[in-house]
Amino acid sequence: MKAVAAVPRSIADYQGRSVEELFARTVEAKRALGNNVMVLGHNYQRDEVIEHADFRGDSLLLAKLAAQHADRPNIVFCGVHFMAETADILSRSSQTVILPDMAAGCSMADMAAIEQVDECWDQLGRILPVEETVLPAVYVNSAAVLKAFCGEHGGITCTSSNARAVMEWAWARREKILFFPDEHLGRNTANKMGLPRERMIVWDPYLPNGGNSADAIRKARLILWKGHCSVHQMFQPAHVDYFRKKHPDIKVIVHPECHEDVVNKADLVGSTEFIIRTVSAAPAGTAWAVGTELNLVNRLKKEQTDKHVHFLSSTVCQCATMFRIDAPHLCWAMENLADGHVVNHIVVPEDDKAWAKVALDRMMAIS
Ligand code: SF4
Repeated sequence: MKAVAAVPRSIADYQGRSVEELFARTVEAKRALGNNVMVLGHNYQRDEVIEHADFRGDSLLLAKLAAQHADRPNIVFCGVHFMAETADILSRSSQTVILPDMAAGCSMADMAAIEQVDECWDQLGRILPVEETVLPAVYVNSAAVLKAFCGEHGGITCTSSNARAVMEWAWARREKILFFPDEHLGRNTANKMGLPRERMIVWDPYLPNGGNSADAIRKARLILWKGHCSVHQMFQPAHVDYFRKKHPDIKVIVHPECHEDVVNKADLVGSTEFIIRTVSAAPAGTAWAVGTELNLVNRLKKEQTDKHVHFLSSTVCQCATMFRIDAPHLCWAMENLADGHVVNHIVVPEDDKAWAKVALDRMMAIS
């Protein structure tokens, strides 16, 4: 790396530059950094960002890749905040994780604050022996402090691809699961496992006892946090009906963060990696209506030219927070790094990191 420049560059100097200029400058910064950097790009990122990624994938795959490449001291994570935190938890202490725009958060992750989860745990504890009967399971789309909560209370993390295995693991240990922050992934998974509806309740963190009677809490086997992904909630059952009518042979494939009414009408349900794998392996000439984030679907369309790939909604369902990582922010982070400045360093406090890793390790041991 070059000698450290006196002052970090300002993001303001990057706004309004042409995509071509930013592309060339990012390529040059990456070349100058060589093996000192690894750029990771989430599947939902826009093309102008993903084209610089050494690896692309879902959040957990990228975090694991960060950990596997201990020889790369700097990881520029093109995703959202909780993903960069997971990379920091799983990577070595000698590695630095950078998020090009700190405003790239996740509306779903923000729907469960640690104070609300602590309060929920206390309220459950007034009704049940909570530590013995309830196992907290948190979707990886959550803040590190919530993963730490799970680690500390005998709980676990899950992804959209291993939610079922995680629920089986959890129910083998305790009678009930507190599943957060995504109500829909929890419900869709439990539906597939045959859990009767009357054994699932929804916990609204803004209501006493989550809006439930003590009796309903005692009877429940699954307590679903009232949270959702604003992107996947845009898909409606009517969208599925529309495509089935227009293309009778079409296959509908959706993400399990969608509402159960959409999931129940789909042919296939699975994680982003499952969607990419399935559509890519499908025979030429087949038609697909895909219910997940728009950038991913557009890329599938571009790459799978021998198939007919459609976006399942008539409205734009793009992850607005993911979209904050753009060519100016990536170029800014990379050029500063090449100058010797780390901007937007993601650091999970050591205590949270240790407990969050416990919850992540439990999950990785079963998947
Ligand atoms: S797509 Fe949904 S869950 Fe994923 S980062 Fe965006 S808001 Fe969060």
